[in-house]
Amino acid sequence: MAGNYELRIARCLGFCGGVRRAMDAFKHLRTETPAAKPVYVLHELVHNCTVTEQMRSCGAVFIATPGELPEGATCLIGAHGVGPETEQLLRERAGCLVDATCPIVKRVQQIAAQLSSDEALVLLGVRGHPEAEGILSHAGTTRRFLVTSVAEIASLPELSKPVFLCQTTLGHEQADRVFAALRGRFPNARRDGSICHASSERQSAVEELVKSIDLLLVIGSPHSSNANRLREIGEYVGIPSMLIEGPEQLPDNLSGFYRIGVSAGASTPDEQIYRTVDEIRRRLKIKD
Ligand code: SF4
Repeated sequence: MAGNYELRIARCLGFCGGVRRAMDAFKHLRTETPAAKPVYVLHELVHNCTVTEQMRSCGAVFIATPGELPEGATCLIGAHGVGPETEQLLRERAGCLVDATCPIVKRVQQIAAQLSSDEALVLLGVRGHPEAEGILSHAGTTRRFLVTSVAEIASLPELSKPVFLCQTTLGHEQADRVFAALRGRFPNARRDGSICHASSERQSAVEELVKSIDLLLVIGSPHSSNANRLREIGEYVGIPSMLIEGPEQLPDNLSGFYRIGVSAGASTPDEQIYRTVDEIRRRLKIKD
């Protein structure tokens, strides 16, 4: 059977610029902070369990609220960003605070902050996701609503000037569908911001890939928004699609799939991708 299997790798996958920037900020802070002192990180730096564990082993301590930050400690804000009140609380407690919010997320926060009180923010996002929560709390209007689907547009109250924004890692098609539904209900709704380039590039690479594969494997953590969007592209076209953390979660039996496609979320480190690809090659005896 060796030689009949093909492994196809998405042309664009893995770490994006925003994640690399956040990782560099952590490495720099780690170098600057005495080894005995932790670097505190609010939530996770990026949504990847391997990255989080590696950081923990290098002295990162993850906290869920600003109140957990010891006075005078060193603290890092992760790539997803935080709301202004949270940032202020961190500033009041931290001896050194470094903000590694991705500049693309910052831009959406700024657009939200510039909304006037007579406008209403309708944000398409993932409920409970720190990026969505952060954008909402930056809004310059108290009329702010998180929606997750077309269906939720119907339950919005009457809005005079709705402005549609989107969490940066969602899918274009989903964003277009939800905005069309919003426009259908509120013809004066306007759209601002956009899906980030890194997410859309990874999505288009998977859209190309799924045309010629039997199984899609996306490497990433279950709570990674952008990795889940990649998996959904495979599901949408009706091929088996799995989100796996690494080689340990590969299906026991790969032999029924002759053309396997691999992609990885924007927070998945190269090493996690290489280990998974190597294991697939080893099991199916695929040469480089
Ligand atoms: S996926 Fe996009 S928005 Fe998120 S960190 Fe990467 S570049 Fe920034």
